[in-house]
Amino acid sequence: MNLCDQKTVRSVMQAFGLRFRKEFGQNFLTNRAVVEDIADYCTDSAEETILEIGPGIGTLTRELCARYKNVVALEIDKSLIPALKYTLNEFHNVTVINEDVMKADLATLLAPYFEKGRVSVCANLPYYITTPILMKLLESGLPFHNITVMIQSEVADRLCSPVGGKDCGAITAVLNYYGVAERLFVVPASDFLPPPSVNSAVVRIRLHDQKPFVPRDDELFRKTIRVAFEQRRKTLPNALQAGFGNLSKEQCIAAVEAAGLRPDIRGERLSMQDFVTLSDILSDILAEAAK
Ligand code: SAM
Repeated sequence: MNLCDQKTVRSVMQAFGLRFRKEFGQNFLTNRAVVEDIADYCTDSAEETILEIGPGIGTLTRELCARYKNVVALEIDKSLIPALKYTLNEFHNVTVINEDVMKADLATLLAPYFEKGRVSVCANLPYYITTPILMKLLESGLPFHNITVMIQSEVADRLCSPVGGKDCGAITAVLNYYGVAERLFVVPASDFLPPPSVNSAVVRIRLHDQKPFVPRDDELFRKTIRVAFEQRRKTLPNALQAGFGNLSKEQCIAAVEAAGLRPDIRGERLSMQDFVTLSDILSDILAEAAK
Protein backbone atom coordinates (compact mmCIF):
# COMPACT_ATOMS: atom_id res chain seq x y z
CA MET A 1 0.00 0.00 0.00
CA ASN A 2 1.52 3.33 -1.01
CA LEU A 3 0.01 6.01 1.24
CA CYS A 4 2.35 8.58 -0.29
CA ASP A 5 0.39 8.36 -3.50
CA GLN A 6 -2.22 11.16 -3.42
CA LYS A 7 -4.76 9.02 -5.33
CA THR A 8 -4.43 6.24 -2.72
CA VAL A 9 -4.85 8.77 0.12
CA ARG A 10 -8.04 10.10 -1.47
CA SER A 11 -9.43 6.62 -2.07
CA VAL A 12 -8.75 5.53 1.56
CA MET A 13 -10.38 8.76 2.77
CA GLN A 14 -13.38 8.15 0.54
CA ALA A 15 -13.72 4.47 1.46
CA PHE A 16 -13.89 5.38 5.18
CA GLY A 17 -16.07 8.47 4.70
CA LEU A 18 -13.29 10.80 5.89
CA ARG A 19 -12.51 14.46 5.22
CA PHE A 20 -9.36 16.44 6.08
CA ARG A 21 -10.16 18.12 9.37
CA LYS A 22 -8.54 21.54 9.55
CA GLU A 23 -9.35 21.88 13.26
CA PHE A 24 -7.02 18.91 13.92
CA GLY A 25 -4.24 20.21 11.66
CA GLN A 26 -4.65 17.35 9.20
CA ASN A 27 -2.03 17.80 6.47
CA PHE A 28 -0.88 14.33 5.45
CA LEU A 29 2.62 13.73 4.11
CA THR A 30 2.77 12.43 0.55
CA ASN A 31 6.50 12.45 -0.25
CA ARG A 32 7.89 8.94 0.28
CA ALA A 33 11.53 10.08 0.57
CA VAL A 34 10.61 12.52 3.35
CA VAL A 35 8.54 9.93 5.24
CA GLU A 36 11.38 7.40 5.04
CA ASP A 37 13.97 9.98 6.12
CA ILE A 38 11.95 11.00 9.19
CA ALA A 39 11.53 7.34 10.17
CA ASP A 40 15.24 6.63 9.58
CA TYR A 41 16.56 9.67 11.45
CA CYS A 42 14.26 9.54 14.45
CA THR A 43 16.54 7.21 16.37
CA ASP A 44 19.41 4.77 16.00
CA SER A 45 18.20 1.46 17.43
CA ALA A 46 15.59 -0.94 16.04
CA GLU A 47 14.98 -2.07 19.64
CA GLU A 48 13.26 1.18 20.63
CA THR A 49 9.60 1.94 21.15
CA ILE A 50 8.33 4.96 19.19
CA LEU A 51 5.52 7.18 20.42
CA GLU A 52 3.85 8.70 17.38
CA ILE A 53 1.52 11.67 17.89
CA GLY A 54 -1.17 11.99 15.22
CA PRO A 55 -0.78 9.01 12.86
CA GLY A 56 -3.42 10.35 10.45
CA ILE A 57 -4.12 7.48 8.06
CA GLY A 58 -0.85 5.76 9.00
CA THR A 59 1.67 7.00 6.39
CA LEU A 60 4.59 7.57 8.80
CA THR A 61 3.29 4.88 11.19
CA ARG A 62 3.85 2.13 8.58
CA GLU A 63 7.49 3.18 8.16
CA LEU A 64 8.00 3.30 11.92
CA CYS A 65 6.44 -0.17 12.37
CA ALA A 66 8.77 -1.55 9.70
CA ARG A 67 11.86 -0.20 11.51
CA TYR A 68 11.28 -0.28 15.27
CA LYS A 69 10.25 -2.79 17.92
CA ASN A 70 6.99 -1.16 19.04
CA VAL A 71 4.94 1.83 17.95
CA VAL A 72 2.35 3.51 20.16
CA ALA A 73 0.23 5.95 18.13
CA LEU A 74 -2.09 8.53 19.73
CA GLU A 75 -4.76 9.94 17.43
CA ILE A 76 -7.36 12.48 18.55
CA ASP A 77 -9.72 11.97 15.58
CA LYS A 78 -11.98 8.98 16.26
CA SER A 79 -13.09 8.79 12.64
CA LEU A 80 -9.53 7.84 11.56
CA ILE A 81 -9.37 4.71 13.76
CA PRO A 82 -11.12 2.29 11.33
CA ALA A 83 -8.89 3.54 8.48
CA LEU A 84 -5.79 2.98 10.65
CA LYS A 85 -6.93 -0.60 11.41
CA TYR A 86 -7.02 -1.16 7.66
CA THR A 87 -3.76 0.57 6.67
CA LEU A 88 -1.78 -0.97 9.56
CA ASN A 89 -3.33 -4.45 9.51
CA GLU A 90 -0.12 -6.25 8.51
CA PHE A 91 1.78 -4.90 11.55
CA HIS A 92 1.55 -6.59 14.95
CA ASN A 93 3.88 -4.20 16.79
CA VAL A 94 1.55 -1.17 16.80
CA THR A 95 -0.97 0.04 19.36
CA VAL A 96 -3.32 2.78 18.16
CA ILE A 97 -5.04 4.78 20.88
CA ASN A 98 -7.85 7.25 20.25
CA GLU A 99 -6.74 10.00 22.64
CA ASP A 100 -5.76 13.67 22.76
CA VAL A 101 -2.02 13.79 23.52
CA MET A 102 -2.59 16.87 25.70
CA LYS A 103 -4.91 14.87 27.97
CA ALA A 104 -3.03 11.56 27.86
CA ASP A 105 -1.25 10.24 30.96
CA LEU A 106 1.99 9.53 29.11
CA ALA A 107 3.85 8.22 32.18
CA THR A 108 1.27 5.46 32.77
CA LEU A 109 0.78 4.73 29.09
CA LEU A 110 4.48 4.35 28.36
CA ALA A 111 5.61 2.74 31.65
CA PRO A 112 5.66 -0.84 30.21
CA TYR A 113 7.77 0.34 27.26
CA PHE A 114 10.25 2.30 29.39
CA GLU A 115 10.65 -0.86 31.50
CA LYS A 116 11.70 -2.79 28.39
CA GLY A 117 14.09 -0.20 26.90
CA ARG A 118 14.37 3.19 25.28
CA VAL A 119 11.46 5.25 23.99
CA SER A 120 11.65 8.02 21.35
CA VAL A 121 8.98 10.30 19.91
CA CYS A 122 8.38 10.79 16.19
CA ALA A 123 5.61 12.93 14.72
CA ASN A 124 4.40 15.15 11.95
CA LEU A 125 2.84 17.48 14.50
CA PRO A 126 -0.50 19.28 14.08
CA TYR A 127 0.61 22.90 13.67
CA TYR A 128 -2.15 24.44 15.77
CA ILE A 129 -0.66 22.94 18.91
CA THR A 130 3.08 22.41 18.23
CA THR A 131 4.53 24.36 21.17
CA PRO A 132 2.13 23.00 23.86
CA ILE A 133 2.86 19.42 22.72
CA LEU A 134 6.63 20.00 22.81
CA MET A 135 6.37 21.66 26.23
CA LYS A 136 4.31 18.71 27.51
CA LEU A 137 6.83 16.15 26.20
CA LEU A 138 9.84 18.04 27.58
CA GLU A 139 8.32 18.91 30.95
CA SER A 140 6.87 15.40 31.43
CA GLY A 141 10.19 14.38 32.98
CA LEU A 142 9.99 11.12 30.97
CA PRO A 143 13.41 9.91 29.83
CA PHE A 144 12.72 10.00 26.08
CA HIS A 145 15.80 9.27 24.01
CA ASN A 146 15.01 11.50 20.99
CA ILE A 147 12.07 13.65 20.01
CA THR A 148 11.86 14.09 16.22
CA VAL A 149 9.13 16.35 14.90
CA MET A 150 7.99 17.98 11.71
CA ILE A 151 6.95 21.54 12.58
CA GLN A 152 6.52 24.94 10.95
CA SER A 153 9.84 26.19 9.62
CA GLU A 154 9.55 29.34 11.71
CA VAL A 155 9.10 27.33 14.95
CA ALA A 156 12.09 25.20 13.91
CA ASP A 157 14.16 28.42 13.69
CA ARG A 158 13.08 29.32 17.20
CA LEU A 159 13.94 25.87 18.60
CA CYS A 160 17.37 25.82 17.00
CA SER A 161 18.30 29.45 17.73
CA PRO A 162 20.91 30.10 20.46
CA VAL A 163 19.44 31.08 23.84
CA GLY A 164 19.71 34.89 23.98
CA GLY A 165 19.68 35.09 20.14
CA LYS A 166 17.17 36.96 17.98
CA ASP A 167 14.77 34.04 17.36
CA CYS A 168 14.90 32.78 20.95
CA GLY A 169 11.59 32.21 22.75
CA ALA A 170 10.57 30.56 26.04
CA ILE A 171 10.42 27.20 24.20
CA THR A 172 14.09 27.65 23.12
CA ALA A 173 15.26 28.13 26.69
CA VAL A 174 13.11 25.27 28.04
CA LEU A 175 14.33 23.01 25.24
CA ASN A 176 17.98 23.84 25.94
CA TYR A 177 17.45 22.91 29.57
CA TYR A 178 16.29 19.40 28.58
CA GLY A 179 18.26 18.73 25.40
CA VAL A 180 19.78 19.92 22.14
CA ALA A 181 17.83 20.57 18.93
CA GLU A 182 19.14 19.96 15.46
CA ARG A 183 17.38 21.05 12.25
CA LEU A 184 17.51 18.10 9.85
CA PHE A 185 15.81 19.27 6.65
CA VAL A 186 13.13 21.53 5.17
CA VAL A 187 9.92 20.16 3.66
CA PRO A 188 7.93 22.27 1.15
CA ALA A 189 4.16 22.70 1.52
CA SER A 190 3.66 20.82 -1.77
CA ASP A 191 4.69 17.55 -0.02
CA PHE A 192 1.42 17.50 1.96
CA LEU A 193 -2.22 16.81 1.19
CA PRO A 194 -3.79 19.33 1.57
CA PRO A 195 -0.77 21.70 1.45
CA PRO A 196 -0.41 23.88 4.58
CA SER A 197 0.13 27.63 4.23
CA VAL A 198 3.73 27.46 5.53
CA ASN A 199 6.89 25.47 4.88
CA SER A 200 7.94 22.87 7.39
CA ALA A 201 11.16 21.54 8.85
CA VAL A 202 12.14 18.39 10.69
CA VAL A 203 13.89 18.89 14.01
CA ARG A 204 15.47 16.21 16.17
CA ILE A 205 15.87 16.89 19.88
CA ARG A 206 18.35 14.74 21.79
CA LEU A 207 17.54 14.80 25.46
CA HIS A 208 20.44 15.22 27.91
CA ASP A 209 21.31 12.18 30.04
CA GLN A 210 22.85 14.64 32.50
CA LYS A 211 21.46 18.17 32.39
CA PRO A 212 24.31 20.70 31.99
CA PHE A 213 22.35 23.36 33.92
CA VAL A 214 21.18 22.54 37.42
CA PRO A 215 18.97 25.20 39.05
CA ARG A 216 18.12 24.77 42.72
CA ASP A 217 14.36 24.77 42.07
CA ASP A 218 13.32 23.22 38.77
CA GLU A 219 9.78 24.63 38.83
CA LEU A 220 10.88 28.15 39.75
CA PHE A 221 13.52 27.98 37.02
CA ARG A 222 10.88 27.19 34.38
CA LYS A 223 8.59 29.90 35.79
CA THR A 224 11.45 32.45 35.57
CA ILE A 225 11.91 31.61 31.88
CA ARG A 226 8.17 31.84 31.21
CA VAL A 227 7.82 35.17 33.02
CA ALA A 228 10.88 36.67 31.28
CA PHE A 229 9.42 35.90 27.84
CA GLU A 230 5.77 36.61 28.61
CA GLN A 231 6.42 40.33 28.86
CA ARG A 232 8.96 40.70 26.06
CA ARG A 233 8.58 44.47 25.75
CA LYS A 234 9.24 45.08 29.43
CA THR A 235 12.63 45.27 31.05
CA LEU A 236 13.49 42.15 33.03
CA PRO A 237 12.77 43.66 36.50
CA ASN A 238 9.33 44.85 35.26
CA ALA A 239 8.57 41.45 33.71
CA LEU A 240 9.57 39.73 36.96
CA GLN A 241 7.38 42.05 38.98
CA ALA A 242 4.40 41.33 36.70
CA GLY A 243 5.00 37.58 36.85
CA PHE A 244 5.87 37.25 40.55
CA GLY A 245 3.07 39.32 42.08
CA ASN A 246 4.56 39.01 45.58
CA LEU A 247 7.86 40.76 44.73
CA SER A 248 8.37 44.54 44.82
CA LYS A 249 10.06 46.49 42.02
CA GLU A 250 13.10 47.03 44.29
CA GLN A 251 13.40 43.30 44.99
CA CYS A 252 13.23 42.54 41.25
CA ILE A 253 15.91 45.11 40.42
CA ALA A 254 18.09 43.76 43.25
CA ALA A 255 17.66 40.17 41.96
CA VAL A 256 18.64 41.18 38.41
CA GLU A 257 21.69 43.13 39.61
CA ALA A 258 22.75 40.30 41.95
CA ALA A 259 22.68 37.99 38.89
CA GLY A 260 25.27 40.32 37.29
CA LEU A 261 22.79 41.79 34.78
CA ARG A 262 21.92 45.40 33.93
CA PRO A 263 18.47 46.43 35.18
CA ASP A 264 17.44 47.61 31.68
CA ILE A 265 18.06 44.19 30.08
CA ARG A 266 15.15 42.30 28.47
CA GLY A 267 14.46 38.67 29.30
CA GLU A 268 15.08 37.42 25.77
CA ARG A 269 18.79 38.37 26.01
CA LEU A 270 19.60 36.07 28.93
CA SER A 271 21.81 32.98 28.54
CA MET A 272 20.94 29.63 30.13
CA GLN A 273 23.44 30.29 32.92
CA ASP A 274 21.85 33.73 33.54
CA PHE A 275 18.46 32.04 33.99
CA VAL A 276 19.95 29.54 36.47
CA THR A 277 21.68 32.28 38.50
CA LEU A 278 18.60 34.51 38.47
CA SER A 279 16.17 31.76 39.49
CA ASP A 280 18.49 30.69 42.35
CA ILE A 281 18.56 34.32 43.59
CA LEU A 282 14.77 34.58 43.27
CA SER A 283 14.44 31.35 45.24
CA ASP A 284 16.39 32.96 48.15
CA ILE A 285 14.32 36.16 47.96
CA LEU A 286 11.02 34.26 47.87
CA ALA A 287 12.08 32.01 50.78
CA GLU A 288 13.03 35.11 52.81
CA ALA A 289 9.71 36.83 51.93
CA ALA A 290 7.74 33.72 53.02
CA LYS A 291 9.26 33.79 56.57
N1 SAM B 1 1.19 11.46 10.66
C1 SAM B 1 0.34 11.81 9.55
C2 SAM B 1 1.19 12.20 8.37
O1 SAM B 1 2.37 12.49 8.56
O2 SAM B 1 0.68 12.20 7.25
C3 SAM B 1 -0.63 12.94 9.93
C4 SAM B 1 -0.01 14.21 10.43
S1 SAM B 1 -1.15 15.56 10.57
C5 SAM B 1 -0.08 16.95 10.37
C6 SAM B 1 -1.47 15.68 12.33
C7 SAM B 1 -2.23 14.52 12.94
O3 SAM B 1 -2.36 14.76 14.35
C8 SAM B 1 -3.65 14.35 12.42
O4 SAM B 1 -3.90 12.98 12.20
C9 SAM B 1 -4.53 14.88 13.56
O5 SAM B 1 -5.81 14.32 13.59
C10 SAM B 1 -3.68 14.49 14.77
N2 SAM B 1 -3.93 15.32 15.98
C11 SAM B 1 -4.27 16.63 16.04
N3 SAM B 1 -4.35 17.05 17.32
C12 SAM B 1 -4.04 15.96 18.09
C13 SAM B 1 -3.97 15.76 19.51
N4 SAM B 1 -4.20 16.77 20.37
N5 SAM B 1 -3.65 14.53 19.98
C14 SAM B 1 -3.40 13.49 19.10
N6 SAM B 1 -3.46 13.64 17.74
C15 SAM B 1 -3.77 14.86 17.25
